Amino acid sequence: MHKGAKNLLYILIFIFISVNLVLITSSGQEELKKIPVLTYHNIVQELEDEDPWLNVTPGQFRLHLQTLKEEGYETITFSDYYRYVTEDFPLPDKPIIINFDDGYLSNYEYGFPILKEMNMKATIFIVTSTVGANYDWMFPHFTWQQALQMEQSGLVDIQSHTHTHSNIAQINNADMIKELRLSKYLIETNLNKECEFLAYPYGLFSEKSLYQAEAAGYKMQMLFENTGVNTKNTPLNQVKRLAVRGDFTKKELIDFIEKMMEKTD
Ligand SMILES: [Zn+2]
Repeated sequence: MHKGAKNLLYILIFIFISVNLVLITSSGQEELKKIPVLTYHNIVQELEDEDPWLNVTPGQFRLHLQTLKEEGYETITFSDYYRYVTEDFPLPDKPIIINFDDGYLSNYEYGFPILKEMNMKATIFIVTSTVGANYDWMFPHFTWQQALQMEQSGLVDIQSHTHTHSNIAQINNADMIKELRLSKYLIETNLNKECEFLAYPYGLFSEKSLYQAEAAGYKMQMLFENTGVNTKNTPLNQVKRLAVRGDFTKKELIDFIEKMMEKTD
């Protein structure tokens, strides 16, 4: 073979091997993608005496979203995450999931406009027996009409937090089935969508509930412990969620997420 042609052949082989190495490395990183889930509850004008683990002000919520944006995070839905695990749906470089529990009216009044302003997505896990509830002994909850309006924006995904917010791990089988199935049915009929995801009240669950929720048709079940973030290897019936303090500063929020990332293999 001509010397020049031989050199060219070596160069081509070198390029071929290099490209494959890069592909192998990047697909390896793809599998290690970490997906934090940040959980909020109620939004209040003033934190004052309210529990900062369960309350955030509109200003602080906006600050948290801005911080995530500045750090390069992009909000995805639980459905995106589910499809990533089951069918390799592509995720952004730094995916993150924002969610609210319980279905407070404040999510609609303050949270929804901020999500629209920032063009970021969130999931709200609702307690179906308290939709539209307005009693003086608890914070008011948004109505089905308001839930539908949020859903139709494409930014908010409504999913189940059971029917009455009971401790699933402690109730009998018939009640457990009702909590899981009635809430799913009500969301599906009122919002004309599939309810696929369940977040356990207080993060409490049992072997039986993991089974019953799956039998009811839930594709993923969310816990509530600050034990780390999610990867492709996280069991779909034990998705980890992080409790975020409403008064976290920018730095505290980022440090907290990074600490939880480090905890995850
Ligand atoms: Zn709750």
